[in-house]
Amino acid sequence: MDEKLKKLQKIIDESNNIVFFGGAGVSTESNIPDFRSADGIFHMSYHYPPEQVVSYSFYMKYPEEFYRFYKSKMMVLDALPNPAHLKLAQLERAGKLKAVITQNIDGLHQKAGSKNVLELHGSIWRNYCMDCNAFYEAKKVKEATGIPTCFCGGMIKPDVVLYQEGLNPTIIEQTIAAIRGADTLIIGGTSLAVYPAAGFIDYFRGNALVVINKSHMERSVQADLNIAAPIGEVLFSVAI
Ligand code: ZN
Repeated sequence: MDEKLKKLQKIIDESNNIVFFGGAGVSTESNIPDFRSADGIFHMSYHYPPEQVVSYSFYMKYPEEFYRFYKSKMMVLDALPNPAHLKLAQLERAGKLKAVITQNIDGLHQKAGSKNVLELHGSIWRNYCMDCNAFYEAKKVKEATGIPTCFCGGMIKPDVVLYQEGLNPTIIEQTIAAIRGADTLIIGGTSLAVYPAAGFIDYFRGNALVVINKSHMERSVQADLNIAAPIGEVLFSVAI
């Protein structure tokens, strides 16, 4: 383990264009539940599998049920950044890290101070009326009884990419450009199970590919360095 951390430190020391690509594991260390993990919570109080509830067709057909799940399991507004978020923000301030690409929707990278955050799956912090496009803060959605509704009568939708929905084309472009331009790509807290997000790492042509993930990878990656440990612990050890 020590050898691996030394190697990571060397890679980071020698790099000035690091891009971080992160997944649910980055957030679970801030106590945000990974709704895909089989923790059993979901099955106790919901009739449908999470992938179905968090789909566009389900949202349109059963918005009340969608919001019951979304508000209680996904809309964690009081979570705090953990050492992984904080270290990535420090690396950006030091001019070494150019972008954080995340599959998470909790806004914790921004809370930690990161500026260039590409949110592949959107954010719980932005919500828009489906009819008039008025913006709503997360608090308003969280506190609404039942289905959050706009003053115009339209339904408010979180700016979160649901299953069956496509990713934002501008975010895709920026993600590909960031990964293409990176000299180091650190993949952290993700088993690369979710497409199309997982496919973006194929654009990497830089020097060092690092994978930090404590659990089994769904997709194997030809990494220069593989560290099977919690992302927060590993990044915390990095000196800037
Ligand atoms: Zn409206």
